[in-house]
Amino acid sequence: MSTSISRRDFLRLGGATAGTALAGLIGTGADLGPATVRAEEARVKGAKAYPSICPYCAVGCGTLVYTVKGPDGKNQIIDIEGDPASPISQGTLCPKGSAIFQLHVNPNRATKVLHRAPGAKEWEQWDLERAMNRVAELTKKTRDETFVERTEDGKLANHTLGIFSLGGATMDNEWNHIQQKLMRGLGVVAIENQARI
Ligand code: SF4
Repeated sequence: MSTSISRRDFLRLGGATAGTALAGLIGTGADLGPATVRAEEARVKGAKAYPSICPYCAVGCGTLVYTVKGPDGKNQIIDIEGDPASPISQGTLCPKGSAIFQLHVNPNRATKVLHRAPGAKEWEQWDLERAMNRVAELTKKTRDETFVERTEDGKLANHTLGIFSLGGATMDNEWNHIQQKLMRGLGVVAIENQARI
């Protein structure tokens, strides 16, 4: 008799073994419920839960933001989870929403403006005011140089193909809305916000 086993058989066997082990545990009267609840409680023990809404897209899933008082007396976020009471999402979050904690608490987050001049090897730290002025200056310059009022055959265009607006996955609904208005007002037609789910 052949001893070979197909992948399908292997998975079926694995599932049956796990099921038998679970049945065995339950058979001994072990109740897994309290352990699960205790583990969940430990993670947010003593924390205050604030209902909120995921900012990433228009689905509007409900979240619970857990905070504790930090050493400086200020509230610190320790966890963000789906809100089971939300009629929209019933406690679930998509992968983007599930990673929302790191939007707030992230040691790798850049908090200073860094500028590297053309040809330079080193990054220079700029204050925000200077950086914003520079961005505005270059945006205006590029638009002035590339704005097309009418195409060659006389059709009204009022656009610039010299600017492309690329958003990131952490841009929220409100910012996407403002970004669209700003870019369309400038005549930009290439706009990508990456906020779809
Ligand atoms: S990004 Fe995901 S979790 Fe957030 S509102 Fe949209 S679907 Fe819900």
